[in-house]
Amino acid sequence: MNIFGAVVFFTLLITFLVKLVSELLNLKAAEAPLPGEFIGVYDEDAYSKSRDYLRVSTSFSLFGASVDLAVLLLFWFLGGFNLLDQLLRGYGFHPIATGVLYIGVLMLMQSLIDLPFSIYKTFVIEEKFGFNKTTPKVFAADILKTLLLSLLIGTPLLGGVLWFFEETGPMAWLWAWGGITAVSLLLQYVAPTWIMPLFNKFVPLDEGELKSAIMDYAATVRFPLTGIYVLDGSRRSARANAFFTGFGKRKRIALFDTLIAAHPVHELVAVLAHEIGHFKKKHIIVNMILSLGNLGVLFFLLSVFMNNRALFDAFFMQNISVYGSLIFFSLLYSPVEWILSVFIQSLSRKHEYEADHFAVTTFEKGGALADALKKLSRNNLSNLTPHPLYVFLNYSHPPVIQRITRIREVSAADNAKPLN
Ligand SMILES: [Zn+2]
Repeated sequence: MNIFGAVVFFTLLITFLVKLVSELLNLKAAEAPLPGEFIGVYDEDAYSKSRDYLRVSTSFSLFGASVDLAVLLLFWFLGGFNLLDQLLRGYGFHPIATGVLYIGVLMLMQSLIDLPFSIYKTFVIEEKFGFNKTTPKVFAADILKTLLLSLLIGTPLLGGVLWFFEETGPMAWLWAWGGITAVSLLLQYVAPTWIMPLFNKFVPLDEGELKSAIMDYAATVRFPLTGIYVLDGSRRSARANAFFTGFGKRKRIALFDTLIAAHPVHELVAVLAHEIGHFKKKHIIVNMILSLGNLGVLFFLLSVFMNNRALFDAFFMQNISVYGSLIFFSLLYSPVEWILSVFIQSLSRKHEYEADHFAVTTFEKGGALADALKKLSRNNLSNLTPHPLYVFLNYSHPPVIQRITRIREVSAADNAKPLN
C-alpha cells in the first residue's frame, strides 16, 4: 500500500471509529432524565419512546456504516475497481462513454447495497415508531423517478466534466467548475416547477387565518412572498417541515400538511419567521458560495492529481483514466471533506441561532417559536440530551434545549428595551 492508499485506508478507519465512539457516547448521554423544560410536553411514555427510537436508529446506523465500510474495503482489496475497468474497456467504447458507464455502475452498486437498508428503515423502524406513511407503491415509484432523473441529469453532467478534463488542457478544472455551477443554479431555478411536483403535490394555501397571518408578517419584515403552498408530506411521513423555493422577488414557501396539522397559527408564523431569518441574514447565499467554493477547490486539486500513477497503483489499477482519477481523487479528498463538513455544521448551528434571533425579535417575542420547537421535538422523537461530541460532528441545528435557552435570553433582552 503506498502513501495514497494509506491516507484513504486510515481515513476510512478513523472516521468509522470516531462515528462509533460518538454514537455510543450519545446513547449514554440519552440516559439523562427528562429535562425540566420539557415537563408537560413529554410524558414518561413519550420520553421513553424517544429514547427507544434513538437506540434503534443508532444501532441500525452503525450496522449500515459497518456494512458500507466492509463492502468498500473488500471491493478495493479484491481488485474490484480494476476488474470493472477492464470489463468495460473490453467493449471498446469512447473513453467518455466508458467513464460514464464506470461511474454509473459504481453508483448503481452503491444504491443496490443501500436499498435493503432504506426498505428496512422505512417499513420497519419508521413504521414501528409511527412515522412511516409510505406505501410500497409510492416507495418504488420514488426510486424509479430518482433513477430516471439521475440518468437524465447526471449522465450529460458527468459526460461534460469528463470531456472538459479529456479535451481542454490545464484550465479544464475551471471549465468543469463553471459548467457545474451554471447547471446547479439552473436546477435550483427549475426544481420548484419541474422536479418537485414529480414527488409531491403543491396546492396554494386557502384564504383564511393562516394565510393572512403569514402575509401580514411577511409584509412587516418587507419580505417579498409570491406564494404559499401546502405540500402533501403526509404521503410519505408523519414528520413535519417547511422550506422556501425560488429566487429574488419570486419566493414561495411550502408548508408540509403535517406541520399545519400539528401547530396553531401563531406557531406556524414563528416557524416561518425563522425561515425568513435565514434569507434576511444571507445564510442561503453564504451556503451557496461555500459549496461552490468547495467544488472549485475540489476540481482544482483533482486537476493536480489527474492521471497520477501512484494514485491508481493504490487502487490496483492497470490503466489510468480521467474517470478513474475522479473516483480515486474523491476518496483521497475524504479527510478534507470530513473536516469541511464539521466546519459547515458548526456554521450552520450559528446560522440557526441567528434565524431564531430574527424570528424572536420580529414576531411575538419568543413564546411561539419556543412552543413550536418543543412540539416539533416531541413529534419527531428528537434526542433532547445529545452528547456534545456528537453535536459537534453531526448536528446542523443546535440541540433544542440550547435553542430555547437562547430564545429566552433574546426575548428577555428585547422586552427590556425601552419603547420609543
Ligand atoms: Zn433554520
